[in-house]
Parts: sequence; structure tokens; C-alpha cells
Amino acid sequence: MANPPKPIAERFRYCPSCGAEIQSRSSSDSRFLCESCGFELHFSPVVSAAALISGPEEKLLMIRRKKEPSKGKLGIPGGFVNPGESLEEALRREVKEELNLELARWSFLGGWPNEYAYKSVLYSVNDTYFAAEAENLEALNLCHEEVESVDWIDPERVSPEELAFPSIQQAINAYLARPKL
Ligand SMILES: [Zn+2]
Repeated sequence: MANPPKPIAERFRYCPSCGAEIQSRSSSDSRFLCESCGFELHFSPVVSAAALISGPEEKLLMIRRKKEPSKGKLGIPGGFVNPGESLEEALRREVKEELNLELARWSFLGGWPNEYAYKSVLYSVNDTYFAAEAENLEALNLCHEEVESVDWIDPERVSPEELAFPSIQQAINAYLARPKL
């Protein structure tokens, strides 16, 4: 690849406030500091929210990703949290957009760091996951721009190589260990 993804801090060549060319980079990947004008910018992780939706026979609803990164691998319905949105609002919005499903119940499983390569930037992400149940699975209707297909997967038997991101395995482990309501 001609332009491999790099952390966002390495993509800054000029100060976005005063326009000075960056001479030396701070040792941190999480902050930009301009030596000319003192402008400071923090690169906090992007946050995502995703739902492990359970169905018949304790199987999980997983999606085949239609887009890079990890195109064709198994993912969990969800997406990035918008500014001003709660985790739960993002969770419900993304599940509705991708699958046309309304969530009836959800409980927090945990959040794990991940890296998400998109075009020329390697984003630092914190993926949060919820165990969830859909109101009515018959409403399922895929957004074909993002989702290739839906598979019902036995979470105890899914192979780690099939998963789009390592955080999904951590979420599945937490899902299997969760106290049953
Ligand atoms: Zn500056």
C-alpha cells in the first residue's frame, strides 16, 4: 500500500491553528502541541458501541462486513458514537440503521481498546459492547451498504480468525461469563 495507515498524530504536518510546519513531534501519540503558537490538540480514542444480540438456542447475531477494514469477516452490529450521543443511543441507532431492529433490553459487557485502519489514518478506538435482545427479530432487514449477510453463530464455537477485530473475542468471553438474568 502506497500510503499505509498511521496514527492520526503522525498525519499532522502543519499546525491547524497557525500553519507552522511541524519540526519535531512530541513523544506522545495522544497529543499535538505546536512549538510556535502553543496550540494543543488531544487525540482521544474514538468510541464505538455494539450489540451482541441473542436469538434462538443461545446463538448470536453476527454480520459479515461489506466494507474495509476487515471486509468479509464476522462483526457485531454497531458503530461509532456521535458527538453528544450516549453509548446506549449510539447502540440503538446503529442497530436500527444496520438491521432495522429495535432493542428491547441491553446490559453493558465492557469496553476494550482496538485499532481501526480507515484510509490513511490508524484510529485508536475503544469498542464497547452490550448483551442485548431485539424486540422482534422478524423485523430484520439488512442495510446492504454495510452488511453482506447475517449469520447466527454459536459464541462458544466461533474461530478467532473469523472475527473482524480482537475486541470481539473479548466481548464474547464477557458475554459467555455474564450473570444470566
Ligand atoms: Zn501553531
